[in-house]
Amino acid sequence: MSLEIIYYPHPTLRHPSRPIMRVDAQLRRWFSEMLELMYENKGVGLAANQVDLPYRFFVMNTEGDPDIKEAEHVFINPVLSGGKGTAEGEEGCLSIPDIYAPVIRNERIKVQAYNIRGEEICTEIDGLFARIVQHETDHLDGTLFIDRLSPTQMADIRPQLEELEDVFENQQKTGAIPSNDMIATQLAELESMRT
Ligand code: ZN
Repeated sequence: MSLEIIYYPHPTLRHPSRPIMRVDAQLRRWFSEMLELMYENKGVGLAANQVDLPYRFFVMNTEGDPDIKEAEHVFINPVLSGGKGTAEGEEGCLSIPDIYAPVIRNERIKVQAYNIRGEEICTEIDGLFARIVQHETDHLDGTLFIDRLSPTQMADIRPQLEELEDVFENQQKTGAIPSNDMIATQLAELESMRT
């Protein structure tokens, strides 16, 4: 099975992700496949549930450049704390194509997580790095950046969201995307595989 990005309003985007208990070969294959997908689509972050996997990890690169390896990170089981200050910055999402809006986030944040080698990381980050980590950790909790917009901002993008909803509904009708029940069954199977 090769991974593919899923789009709003796919229900897996609303599914809270299950913590990862071990880093193994399968997980490392997913990390590299997700990084590849992220770079292909000109993204700076990609969470596991954006490729229909119900696990708590994401990949990112603040530069969006596969050649800048020091900007590339994998965060497993991230926990955020101690948010400080606020900053507004434009965000988009590979699962919500062509929609962008300014989002208010913490300017600085502490993140505790595990890296690609399964080692614990505990660090305080700010700027774009902090914004991406907050956006991606939101994904793992089933939250999208559009949930953080004001009612006025939401009204502005409502027609575009409705278009995506129509496309999704049609894809389910034609069977290109499984029914919500089938998606829930698949997620439960994937979760039981890794516990
Ligand atoms: Zn996103």
